[in-house]
Amino acid sequence: MKTHFQILVVGGGTAGIMTAARFLRIDPHLDLGIIEPSETHYYQPAWTLVGAGTYRFDKTARPMEDVIPKRAIWIRDYVIGFQPDSYSLSTKSGNSYTYHYLIVAPGLAYDFDLVPGLKEAMNKADVCSIYTNPEHCWEAIRNFKGGTALFTQPTTPIKCGGAPQKIMYLAESYWRKSGVRNKTKVVFATPGSVIFGIPEIRKTLLNVVDRKDINLRFGHELRKIDSVNQIAWFEPGKHLREYNHKDLNIAKEGSLIGIKYDYLHTAPPSVAPRFIRESSLVNASKWLDVDHHSLQHRKYANIFGLGDVAGLPTAKTGAAIRKQVPVVVDNIFRLIRNGHQRIKSYNGYSSCPLVTDYGKMVLAEFDYDNNFTPDPKLKQLLISDSSKEHWRLWLLKKYGLPYLYWNKMLKGKDV
Ligand SMILES: Cc1cc2nc3c(=O)[nH]c(=O)nc-3n(C[C@H](O)[C@H](O)[C@H](O)COP(=O)(O)OP(=O)(O)OC[C@H]3O[C@@H](n4cnc5c(N)ncnc54)[C@H](O)[C@@H]3O)c2cc1C
Repeated sequence: MKTHFQILVVGGGTAGIMTAARFLRIDPHLDLGIIEPSETHYYQPAWTLVGAGTYRFDKTARPMEDVIPKRAIWIRDYVIGFQPDSYSLSTKSGNSYTYHYLIVAPGLAYDFDLVPGLKEAMNKADVCSIYTNPEHCWEAIRNFKGGTALFTQPTTPIKCGGAPQKIMYLAESYWRKSGVRNKTKVVFATPGSVIFGIPEIRKTLLNVVDRKDINLRFGHELRKIDSVNQIAWFEPGKHLREYNHKDLNIAKEGSLIGIKYDYLHTAPPSVAPRFIRESSLVNASKWLDVDHHSLQHRKYANIFGLGDVAGLPTAKTGAAIRKQVPVVVDNIFRLIRNGHQRIKSYNGYSSCPLVTDYGKMVLAEFDYDNNFTPDPKLKQLLISDSSKEHWRLWLLKKYGLPYLYWNKMLKGKDV
């Protein structure tokens, strides 16, 4: 059994596969292993569309063996611990592997215990999440008969921070068609202070919120769910504020505010996986401690990290990974070849394709400083202003991006 690799990748998700594929595209003779336990690879960005009944779930999944680069060695195992001083790690099946360079990309984990009652609530007919079961979500949206439809998100970082509002915009549209919208109050309760951090995008989204008559409740920190009495309990945060007031059925318990719901959508509280949190590789917030620009570990020079696990002050998306991969690959090649490094620098780029309706989308692209940074290639798609809703952007989300993901990005090609 081979136990030493020049490059070892932890995780065969978006970040792990894209990085491995790019390495091997540049140098097919690299000695590269990927440790990944799952037999299936998912294109998670389409789960929002699955949750709204406009994309098939089976189209978001492919066998892992089809996406692992042919020249990589796939180790079907779980990493359980790191010994970075001896350049090694250990796995669940009792093996140890050593490496020259390590890439840590196991994504994030859900910690339902951070919101008591949430786990029990998730399988109910009136509670759902595109993050955990998008098909159940579509069922819950279809079966909704009116009342208060509450959309919320936790206080932790989550994958694609815009997704909880995307599904709200689509559900609201569906309820117009299904005839229950006129007996429904749509509410978005968020711990944040604004609907979106980029001013250009915020302006458009507020128009969408007005058009859809949605009640926004800011500074709402989700604390627990009482799924028997259908109440979501929030701690009022410092951003407590309301936009487009609606009278709701409100409960009180000490400092907590309870919103009575008839339908609830939420994203699970998210943390780095336990084997990362319990390792010496994390920062004070327990995310992987990498330099924000080089993506090199701050303590161990031969370790790099990217994707959802990385402690980076930007949105956790596949789009961000697309820009992180060349930085990691280039910096490691420089270390391998001549010892120089940190030539390529990651600027925090991330993007959020905000679907605002069936057939409409806004594309938020931004950097660490929350500058709006639209891709110049959008002009080739005849999209002059991606901060505005556009049907071509919807086509990009539904057809263009999945195609590019499976056929270009996962093969290490530039997009
Ligand atoms: C509902 C939803 C909507 C989204 N929308 C968008 C969007 O519109 N645009 C966008 O760009 N992004 C979107 N994202 C986010 C995007 O999917 C993630 O940011 C991306 O998949 C993260 O990639 P990753 O490789 O870091 O983690 P993942 O893709 O989650 O992969 C992590 C891999 O690590 C493996 N692993 C875990 N533990 C271990 C272990 N112990 N040992 C070895 N391997 C391990 C897992 O099996 C998994 O295969 C969305 C996500 C969701 C859930």
